[in-house]
Formats: sequence, C-alpha cells, structure tokens
Amino acid sequence: MIMVSACLLGQRVRYDGRHSLRDDVRELTGDEPVLALCPEVLGGLGTPRPPARFVGARFGYEGSDLLAGRARLMDENGRDVSLAFARGAKLVAELCKQHGVRLALLKDRSPSCGWDPDGVNPQGGPGQGVLAALLSQMGVTVREVRSSARGEK
Ligand code: SF4
Repeated sequence: MIMVSACLLGQRVRYDGRHSLRDDVRELTGDEPVLALCPEVLGGLGTPRPPARFVGARFGYEGSDLLAGRARLMDENGRDVSLAFARGAKLVAELCKQHGVRLALLKDRSPSCGWDPDGVNPQGGPGQGVLAALLSQMGVTVREVRSSARGEK
C-alpha cells in the first residue's frame, strides 16, 4: 500500500480549494493499492482555509520541531493551528500503520506534506512537513512529488 497526498490525485483539498493533480503519480505507484489522504482536512481544517507557516522551527526539521512542541504553525490570521496539523498527521499515520504503508508520495511545499530536507526544491517551501516528519519517524519511505503552478487548479 502506498499513501499519496490526496491533492496530487485531483482532490480539491488544498488550502485554496484547488487540487495539484499530477497525472504521472499513477506511474509512480504502479499496481500497488493507494491510500489517498489529506492530513489537514482530517485534522479538522476546512477547505478553503488560510495558509499557515512555521514559527520557531529549524529548516529541515520543521515537522519534528512542531511534534516535539518546539515550534508552531500559525495561519495568516494569526491563529495557532498547530494542534489541528498534528492531529491530522497522527490520524494519517495511524491509517498508514493499519494498512501497512511502506511508501508515501507527498506533495512539495506543504507544511504537512512537504519533504525537502536539503532545500533543493527551486520553488522553495519547508524542508519537512508535519506528516512527512511523522511518517519518516515511523520508518515509512517519504518521497517528495513536485507540483507546478501550472498543474494546480
Ligand atoms: S499537500 Fe497535503 S495537506 Fe496540502 S492539500 Fe495536499 S494532501 Fe492536503
């Protein structure tokens, strides 16, 4: 079983109500069954929702720092949404455990799904989202799937 960020499969769950469909994700998953989930929606955040940014986190360790209580996620209205992000990531992690997920294909530049610990994505974004951190800690292989502004609708 492979977990995939739901927006990459065309679900309109992004903060701005759009999706980030990548037609080639199915080539990456092959014949493996897929678990398509959005941690922010599962955490109780609505769609659309204000974008959120890490505060007080080290680059490349943002998600781990938040889970350890060393950093927060604040939305653009100044609301602390750390608990909702952590709750959603934990729910996805639990489902991944139940379904024996070994690989997660996660959308880039997301405070939940982002996975770019070396900061090589030319479009920027956090080095490690909250879900990416948690899955990595569980031993799940995490791969970043880069989306482009062109593909986001
Ligand atoms: S990147 Fe992750 S958190 Fe953001 S919309 Fe896609 S699945 Fe949801």
